[in-house]
Amino acid sequence: MKLYNTLSSSVETFLPQEKNVVKMYVCGITPYDEIHIGHGRCYVIFDVLRRYLQYKGYKINYVQNFTDVDDKIINKAKELNKHPSEISQHYINSYYEIEKKLNITPAKIYPKVTEHIDDIIISIENIIKKGFAYVTTTGVYFDTSKFKNYGKLSKKNLDELQAGSRIEVDETKKSPLDFALWKFSKQNDIIFWESPWGNGRPGWHIECSVMSMKYLGETLDIHGGGMDLIFPHHENEIAQSESLTGKNFVNYWVHNGFVTVNQQKMSKSLGNIFALKDIFEIYDPMIVRLFLISQHYQKPLDFSIQEVEQFKNVYQKLVNFNEEIKERIKNSEPKTGINEEVVKYINVLINEFETAMDDNLNTSSAMAVLHKFISYVNKNISWIDKTTLNYCYTKFLLLVEEIFGIKVDLSYEIPEIVQKLVSQREIARRNRDFETSDKLRAQIFELGYIVEDTLTGPKVKKRI
Ligand SMILES: [Zn+2]
Repeated sequence: MKLYNTLSSSVETFLPQEKNVVKMYVCGITPYDEIHIGHGRCYVIFDVLRRYLQYKGYKINYVQNFTDVDDKIINKAKELNKHPSEISQHYINSYYEIEKKLNITPAKIYPKVTEHIDDIIISIENIIKKGFAYVTTTGVYFDTSKFKNYGKLSKKNLDELQAGSRIEVDETKKSPLDFALWKFSKQNDIIFWESPWGNGRPGWHIECSVMSMKYLGETLDIHGGGMDLIFPHHENEIAQSESLTGKNFVNYWVHNGFVTVNQQKMSKSLGNIFALKDIFEIYDPMIVRLFLISQHYQKPLDFSIQEVEQFKNVYQKLVNFNEEIKERIKNSEPKTGINEEVVKYINVLINEFETAMDDNLNTSSAMAVLHKFISYVNKNISWIDKTTLNYCYTKFLLLVEEIFGIKVDLSYEIPEIVQKLVSQREIARRNRDFETSDKLRAQIFELGYIVEDTLTGPKVKKRI
């Protein structure tokens, strides 16, 4: 498989350090507000990468953090008169909910900053000992002039960076580029920890260096995140980690592109940040997931309700195909042997799918192959035998559910309450009590399901 590495600015063949294991770290959220469509893109993209690598036979050790101490959390806590941990826990929970709805594979571990203060302090002590940091009256700072490769990820040279950096408020720093490893607390700070240098809390970047290396080792195979994190966050992670270990911190830096809204950058001031929980009021999360992987991950993705709307039909097509093929398998006659010709063509398509995904995770081309697959089977479904159809169905589920993470087989998900209403309705219908039957149908609809009467009995489908 080939992946674009931001560090080398080129597409490289992916080779993990260990033969069968991939050590992967993706920067997690700062839990102070609703999870939005931009977050959704990042975590879905890295989930597809992870699922695909798993399909290729790797075991994935995936770590994603929560930045659960930050000015934004503290400010919100003050505003609402709550403890910062209440705020962060609330949004961490809502992250988990969104993650589940989007069918994102959970991380192996979700380290939190507040649970790693001791590790962070030890690392800062070591960075100071090695001569890469200094203490001032406001905090402990990383001395960027001491790290000779500073700027290697963002491809910026120090002069350029210095010229471009904003006028610094903090006069105690040697250079405006130097960044805080530990910030001393100010009066009235509601959250701080003791440290050898004074009470305070960690700077933002140090947590990712410390927590990623703690759980994955000194060199990671893949470090991911949104493009906006390249500078300064990831540049600073490299400086901290490599000054500590003297080793290469990350072999493949993978960054996803922005989500724009009606061609504009998302921002608080424009009021165009779309929370996923609000989008899910309109669209099934699987439709949103389809939209999020529709474009190559490095390109910008433009969000609008009309854009997502198009994927409603795409999703319906996948769900219908799943229903159709299952029905055919149930009703078709078994034959001995398997149709070699069909199998051969399906395997050609699987190869095409893999070629697309191997080419720097080209999900949009791979999606086109999936549609080709569906058209082919649909065209020939009337004569393909049971065994061969079963083969096609297994491959279809592999591509759509296992790799893309789009749940299409919804039958097993019908909740008990809906099933109960369906049987009550069936009884009413048989008794020709159409008033009750219509009422029950409306109730079923309210719960998000549609009931259809077929020759073989009622059929329930999820409302899309
Ligand atoms: Zn990070």
